[in-house]
Amino acid sequence: MNLLTDDFLSARRESDGEHVWIGLKEIICTNNDYSFMYPRDDLELGALCLCISIVQCLWPPENLNELKNRIRKPMNFEEYEEGIQNYIDWFNLEDEKYPFMQVKGVKASNSTPLDKLLPGLTGGTNCTFVNEPKQAVSLCSGCAAIALFNDASSAPGFGGGFKAGLRGSAPITTLIQGGCLRETIWMNVLSMDIGGDSFFNKKLNSLPTWVDPIKEKTQFSAAGIGLMRGIFWQPAHIELNGQVHGTTCSCCGRKVDSVFKNFNKAKFNYTVTDIWTHPHSPRYLSLKGSEIVQRFASFTTSAPSWTHLNRFVVQEEVSKNNKEGQEPALVIVQAKKLLGRKSNLIILIIGGYQNNQATILDRRHEVMTFRTFERSVLSEIVGCGLKFKSALRGALYVFSQGMKESGSSGKIKGNGTLIYQTGDEFFYKRTQAVVEDALVSIDSENLTLIDEYKKTLCWIGEAIFEELTAPYLHDPQLVHTLAVARRTWWKKVRDIMPIEKEGENG
Ligand SMILES: [Zn+2]
Repeated sequence: MNLLTDDFLSARRESDGEHVWIGLKEIICTNNDYSFMYPRDDLELGALCLCISIVQCLWPPENLNELKNRIRKPMNFEEYEEGIQNYIDWFNLEDEKYPFMQVKGVKASNSTPLDKLLPGLTGGTNCTFVNEPKQAVSLCSGCAAIALFNDASSAPGFGGGFKAGLRGSAPITTLIQGGCLRETIWMNVLSMDIGGDSFFNKKLNSLPTWVDPIKEKTQFSAAGIGLMRGIFWQPAHIELNGQVHGTTCSCCGRKVDSVFKNFNKAKFNYTVTDIWTHPHSPRYLSLKGSEIVQRFASFTTSAPSWTHLNRFVVQEEVSKNNKEGQEPALVIVQAKKLLGRKSNLIILIIGGYQNNQATILDRRHEVMTFRTFERSVLSEIVGCGLKFKSALRGALYVFSQGMKESGSSGKIKGNGTLIYQTGDEFFYKRTQAVVEDALVSIDSENLTLIDEYKKTLCWIGEAIFEELTAPYLHDPQLVHTLAVARRTWWKKVRDIMPIEKEGENG
């Protein structure tokens, strides 16, 4: 199966809703619209990233104007055929010499079932969020290629000494959604003037790792890694095997001549000394001493994606007085130039795994829609949400843990439960729609709407506070604690909304 010529992608055709299998050429060279169709959101994003990565490496636009033309109209078939000629051997899953993202003759004492290639499908904690078991008992070549790519670039690796990809163990991917699938792909392809020398310099090693293997036990700088090598980086030695004939793919449901059931894997060691600035991921910066430390953003808590939104799209440098900052993904930086100040809504695709080392705790795949890239607006919307959350948590923490009474040695009794954690969960659930609505309606021209937004958040926070504390008020000592906790809430609210005074009765 060749990724450049075969119909390996499972998709829904938007014109009639039919489930079809299509190739990259159909997406890039026609005006037909599709959406990927897989039983898991991470594979849908994996398929999209795989297509973006191929198009990025084979047809990098020289500048933004050329990119705009690509977005505007489909490529012609001749140009497609010509573009794939030099790469055709490297994108064949079963190539005799250079099988896509694999190594020939991997020695392993046991063959590994293919479900290990779908992050989170095996293992105790993981099964809770998997819809259907046995999704990867047997994979068609297309699904196997997507699983291989996704596992190498976005998942925590297999654990036990296997290395994760160039972005670390569970990076967040952020992309911009276009009007159709073809547009979405091009919107996330970097033009050469934006990517610059660090991706497009001809002196960089751009050979994929399965063509020019990473040498074991070597140490090297990410600065020498070219675009194709970095974007298709394979950190493990993997070889698909266990091919059997005549069956159905357990992932996309396609009837095929043969499927893969297993793979061999072997770990090997190397050290990359710095960070390869993958164009699809935001990086967080922190100042340690005089050194700026970078890491790729990842989901470390279950807080919703909006809480990270300005960190995903607003650039912030670090300095002596500002020790935490961030760099949005380069495709997001480019999108700001591409979209300019036009008033259409911006749709951000966000995906990643929440992990604890090799264990996947959750899959996070969402789209967020907002009106503007403007820093002041986004910081205000997201910042207010976070401040009200923290006000609620602070007040409920007082109710839970009690506090030292001012002016005496006594302590006000707390109820001893973890209601502040429940408060966080309730707050995130009940404000999700409010924050989403603010993001799509507020920009710098109508910033006064922010006052209504604050009032709504305040009202929701107060309601949660009263609801969670009410069951404990049969205890007279806690009635006093409630008054103190309520005072804490209103004090914090006044810091966020200085004009509001009513409501306090503690
Ligand atoms: Zn399949």
